[in-house]
Amino acid sequence: MEMIIYPRSADSHTHILEMEKKGIDVHEILTTCFEKGMSSVMDIAVDELDFEKRLAYKKDFPNLFFSAGVHPSSTVDIKNQIDIIEEQLQNDHVVAVGETGLDFHWDTVPADMQKKMFARHIQLSKDFHLPLIVHNRLADKEVLELLKSEKAESGVIHCFSSNYHFAKKFVDLGFYISFAGNITYKKSEEIRDAASKLPFDRILVETDAPYLSPQKYRGKTNHPGYISQTINCIADLFNKGADETAYQTFLNCKELFQLKLDE
Ligand SMILES: [Zn+2]
Repeated sequence: MEMIIYPRSADSHTHILEMEKKGIDVHEILTTCFEKGMSSVMDIAVDELDFEKRLAYKKDFPNLFFSAGVHPSSTVDIKNQIDIIEEQLQNDHVVAVGETGLDFHWDTVPADMQKKMFARHIQLSKDFHLPLIVHNRLADKEVLELLKSEKAESGVIHCFSSNYHFAKKFVDLGFYISFAGNITYKKSEEIRDAASKLPFDRILVETDAPYLSPQKYRGKTNHPGYISQTINCIADLFNKGADETAYQTFLNCKELFQLKLDE
């Protein structure tokens, strides 16, 4: 298995059960990543189901951390889903709320319902003092407006795919920006431009596995073992070494999610 793992790196956004469904041996991948020195991996919720199944991985991988939340496109019954998430957020292994946000690409859930659900997640994030993991697809303006009007306190814009204009606005609100494998695609100049102008201590990296394999592995199923590709890209943009970039993005991740890990 070809994998370059930088010691003390962090994958801030993966979906372990979705990887399983695509045939990835998650145990094997995570074992290799952690043996090679990766510091942490975040498993992000897409809905309120399968929470126990996700958390079962914790006993084998203490450096795996979790979020609880409902993806905007998985919104079906706001009250019921929020009640369930609220209970999940009380678990000590849960360090974030999400992924939540707005997705105007898949218009399966009406915009009004998505906005209502997003607002409820923002409230939970404040109640539990946990950062938000924000999904934003074709909704820059609306996501920004809701974060402001609901007075969101902290979080990350995951898989950032917009321009510097909006990146700066999110950073000014106190948010981190996380970059995924799509930053390595040839046509992603706008995303690279945005990343290159951000403060180094506000940047996270993620695989969003099993989705968005970086250029080098396009066509293959993505997993945390491919995070080095995104780290290399950020390192080039900042004229830094890959090890230093891996470490800084881990520190940023640790700071945002208040991970109880050694530096
Ligand atoms: Zn995701």
